[in-house]
Parts: sequence; structure tokens; C-alpha cells
Amino acid sequence: MRMHPWIFSGAIKKIEGEPVEGDLVEVYSSDYEFLALGHYQIGSITVRIFSFEPGTADNDFWRMKIQRAYNLRAALNLTDSTETNVYRLINGEGDEMPGLIIDYYNGIAVMQMHSIGMFRLRSRIAEILADLYEGKLIAIFDKSESTLPFKANLGAKNEFIMGNTPQIEVRENGYRFNIDVSTGQKTGFFIDQRDNRQLLTHYTTGKSVLNMFCYTGGFSVYAMGSGATMVHSVDSSAVAMEIMERNIAMNGGPDERHQPFSTDAFSFLTDINDRYDVIILDPPAFAKHQDALNNALQGYKRMNQKAIEQIRSGGILFTFSCSQVVSRENFRKSVFAASANSGRHVRILHQLTQPADHPVSIYHPEGEYLKGLVLQVE
Ligand code: SAH
Repeated sequence: MRMHPWIFSGAIKKIEGEPVEGDLVEVYSSDYEFLALGHYQIGSITVRIFSFEPGTADNDFWRMKIQRAYNLRAALNLTDSTETNVYRLINGEGDEMPGLIIDYYNGIAVMQMHSIGMFRLRSRIAEILADLYEGKLIAIFDKSESTLPFKANLGAKNEFIMGNTPQIEVRENGYRFNIDVSTGQKTGFFIDQRDNRQLLTHYTTGKSVLNMFCYTGGFSVYAMGSGATMVHSVDSSAVAMEIMERNIAMNGGPDERHQPFSTDAFSFLTDINDRYDVIILDPPAFAKHQDALNNALQGYKRMNQKAIEQIRSGGILFTFSCSQVVSRENFRKSVFAASANSGRHVRILHQLTQPADHPVSIYHPEGEYLKGLVLQVE
């Protein structure tokens, strides 16, 4: 058995009963052998599987699953650390709970449901979370408004299902960040770059750093903290700029080494010349769907070429793609083409991905969405 957690509509011969979107369904082979338990969905993915064992998906079943996910984060030293109190508790397919994301922000749990089946379970899951964290949990925020299938017409709103605290200070590797879970992208912060931000600090002491697509300034804060001589942070969103400046100030006060640029990344990159020793390129997903793939690959190539052409000799480029449809191999090919066009000597120092609290099921390679390369350019 391949154990891939999705069953596509084309693979289904017959549906018994009249399931509606979000119902719990059992899947059988053509000779009536039990295969899996999952949530029924309308669309090309018809069933999202959360169990390959026969049984019932009752409270104890979900409690056990969430406990198992928590145990992994505990083993990663995330649940009781004084240095890091922001992490992903549930990573969809990677935790055998397709359609469910839960991020933990120092006492606030943010749930993001991508399926109706999981959305229907939200109060049960909220109760389990409250028990699991005991007194530590001050709020649970449901941020599914834009992630649920819109055709389901649920009228889901982003809202607190427990408590009411949108803002919280979190720590990541000892750095402080002010997060507003109710606004902004994802669940409030790009938790998935934690390990890569830490790696950046090995390269930034005494260096000039350009952080493109900086959002709330994660990479900038780390670069400042590790003694960069100059950090320029670029993002087109004015809101992101404000949050970033606050985060910079929280980690050592306002500092003239840092300068924000609220502008378009592509035009900023046209004439950076040789001002920077270290450049970070962490753009939003260029391709959300398969049909946009070619344009996305061209986009990665052009953007990386600009950086590789201009970075200082011996410079270090951290370059990422978070598009799920862009494979590691395709991303690397785009960066290869960018390097070849630049005519410079380029070496790969690190190949990066998402951290262990964003685990990938080996049966669901699509879950490996974050790809990164650290390059040295002579
Ligand atoms: N590196 C960030 C996450 C980046 S998210 C972190 O570690 O937290 C992508 C960011 O790109 C968003 O903040 C978005 O506002 C910004 N963005 C999107 N298109 C842009 C463009 N054309 N120019 C500059 N910034 C852009």
C-alpha cells in the first residue's frame, strides 16, 4: 500500500450512501477490503485520509493523534524551552491530520482548517488543546476564513474560540518578536524559517546584509543580533514594515545599522551593485497552481540572476522557494540557469528545508514545500 493521504475522484469506482462535504467516510478496495478512514470532500481530492486502520474517529482518537504530535514537539525541545516558544503543533498530512494546521504562539494556539471535515471538528479539537496545555493556553484563534474551500459557503470568520488575545510576544532562538495572530499572513509569523534564520547568523557577523521580502523582519533581527554592519530590509507591504521596525527595536533598540525600504523587490534588485555581502531572497509562492509553474520558474531564475550578478565577491546568497508545485529539482534548475547566465563561480553550501516541527510524511512528498539553497558566489 502506498499510503498516500489523498484519494482522487478518478480512483473511486462507487460511492455508497450520500456523503456530504466533510463527512467521515470509509474507503474500501474493489473486493471490499478496508483501506482507510478519511474526510469526504468535493473536488479533485475526494477523500483526505487520516487513518489506515479500521476504527472510529471519536474523541479519544483525535486526542491520541494530537498528543502524539505534541510528543514530537516535546522531543524537539520546543514545548518547554525558554529560548523558543513559537512552533507548529500540527502540520496537516505530516502529522496524519490532513486539512489541519495548528501553530502555538507562547500561549495562543492558532488553528487553520483547510477542509470542511476538520472545520466541523474545531470545538472538539479546541477542547483537546485546552486539556493538553492545561493552564498554559490563554487563547485559541480560528483563522480559517481564507483557507477553507470557498464553495462550501460556510461563512467562516476568523474568530477566537477561546480567550481574546490577538497580540503576544514570542521568543525564537532567544530573539523577541511581537506577533498579531489575527492579522497578517499565515498564522502570524513564518515559523518555518526558524532553523534557516539561525544558520544565517553564521554568515552575517561584520557583513552587509540585504533581506528581500522581509515581512516581519525575522532574518533581519537575526542578522542584527549576530553583528552585521548594515542590514537593509525590503518589503512592499507598509504594514509588514511597521511590524518589522517594532521587532528590530525590541531586540536591542533602534539601531542605525538597520534601514527599511518599503518598495517593490524587483525594482530594488535592479541596481544594488556590489553593496551586499549577504542577500536573502524569500519571496511569496510564485506558483500556487501547476499551470503557473513555468512562469514561476522564470521568475525564480530572473530574480536569482540579479542577486548572483551583483553580490560581492565571496558573497553568500540564501535563496528560497515556498511554492508547493515547484519541486526541489526544478528550483535548483532555475538557480542553476541564473548562475550560468551570470557567468560567476557558484557553489552550494547548504540545501535547506522546513524545520522538524513541519514534518513531511514520506508518503506525501508534496508536503515538502520549503526549498532553500545557500550559495557562495566568487
Ligand atoms: N522572509 C519572511 C517571509 C516572506 S513572506 C519571513 O521570514 O518572515 C513574503 C513577503 O513578500 C510578504 O511580506 C509580502 O508583503 C512581500 N512581497 C510580495 N511581493 C513583493 C514585491 N513585489 N516586492 C516586495 N515585497 C513583496
